[in-house]
Amino acid sequence: MAYLFEFRVFFWNSYLFYRMFFYKAKDASRSARLLVVFYYRMETFMEYTTQMDAARKGIITKELLRVAEKENMEPEELRGYVAEGKAIIPANKKHTCIDPSGIGSMLKTKINVNLGTSRDWTDLDMEMEKVKNAVDMGAEAIMDLSSFGKTQEFRRKLTSECPAVIGTVPIYDAVVYYHKALKEITAKEWIDVVRMHAEDGVDFMTIHCGINKETAKRFKTNKRLTNIVSRGGSIIFAWMEMTGEENPFYEYYDEILDICREYDVTMSLGDACRPGCLKDASDISQIQELITLGELTTRAWEKDVQVMVEGPGHMPLDQIAANMKIQQTICKGAPFYVLGPLVTDIAPGYDHITAAIGGAIAATYGASFLCYVTPAEHLRLPDVNDVKEGIIASKIAAHAADIAKGIKGARDWDDAMSTARKKLDWEEMFNLAIDPQKARDYRASAKPEKEDTCSMCGNFCAVKNMNRILDGEIVSIYDE
Ligand code: SF4
Repeated sequence: MAYLFEFRVFFWNSYLFYRMFFYKAKDASRSARLLVVFYYRMETFMEYTTQMDAARKGIITKELLRVAEKENMEPEELRGYVAEGKAIIPANKKHTCIDPSGIGSMLKTKINVNLGTSRDWTDLDMEMEKVKNAVDMGAEAIMDLSSFGKTQEFRRKLTSECPAVIGTVPIYDAVVYYHKALKEITAKEWIDVVRMHAEDGVDFMTIHCGINKETAKRFKTNKRLTNIVSRGGSIIFAWMEMTGEENPFYEYYDEILDICREYDVTMSLGDACRPGCLKDASDISQIQELITLGELTTRAWEKDVQVMVEGPGHMPLDQIAANMKIQQTICKGAPFYVLGPLVTDIAPGYDHITAAIGGAIAATYGASFLCYVTPAEHLRLPDVNDVKEGIIASKIAAHAADIAKGIKGARDWDDAMSTARKKLDWEEMFNLAIDPQKARDYRASAKPEKEDTCSMCGNFCAVKNMNRILDGEIVSIYDE
């Protein structure tokens, strides 16, 4: 299989360079052209740093080919999006077991699952079980947010065993790694942790570089109801306040880009000022930071570093579409990674639902990556069941958006389910359900008198009665 895959990569590159040369030198002999094609392909195939760099050089990498296959898209079309920065393929060169996924609004909406240890929860085996379940349930990305214990051991385990895209937030890890007070961590040490995560094979990193001194000043002038709710944002803001220094992730941004370029780490530009309640949505701090993120996106692209931009947060339903449009404009089409948005603040215990509502709307209007939210949000670290509930809710939101935005083939699943429903084919309905076991358990918990219907309507089953009447049968209901 691997041999076949390499051949296909070779084929696509050869085809592209043949075309490139053919158009440049129409009068050259065929054999000379082929020779140059071969030489050119060998040269360029080896010489690229990031997926974006490769795409800009016209190279179809094996990761791009795999993503095109998963997306049912022509590799050349996808290459164009990656070259422009409108789609990304996070794939650290050291994460060799990765099955890559693409992220971009023209692709299927992807979901991310947050996991990791905390001071109150240090069970690595439990976290690995959540990872396995998440991958089995179709999560394309895992973010390791560990902030306590053996963080590097867990991170390396992920990048050596897990095929999903792996993301981290180095700022959390720095506090654990250096074992010293926040104020004592130097700018150089913050950057060193970014390098360490890159070397460990992490595919994307959330870097809170948008909250610079200018944004912090605006934040302090324009009061908020819930201040800064981003964990990383609050850490770096506190560090800036205590040291009086500029945000090192902003000040040494070029150095971070060099690290990302070397390992092909995708920058996930963190939104320290994402609104933490409906009242703070779309306020000055959020928009000020977004403008900075737009500038930082351009600077990353100048170094061929792949970028996505993180977004809200808590947000009233009627503001979501406009926020997606603003981000797409300011960040020039870079993929948008949203954390929710949660469309109401009053539902602790049900925030997987409030986030799924917002996520479906966000993805319909431009977001391409949804960070899952579990029922445990705002309450505690999620357990295995919370993780499952969060994933299902996010997958539903992503799928609903894919149908709405017309992703090729997205509705086929729904049509197959509806066909099974029309036939009252219960086994097929279970097989097609997003959570087959739950569907099976529900039906089994209230068996109907008539096997082909369900206990909701029994004899009054509209589906059954319509099938029968259209087949020319008598439908009596009363005495059946
Ligand atoms: S009994 Fe009612 S709910 Fe159940 S399958 Fe028939 S129409 Fe649907």
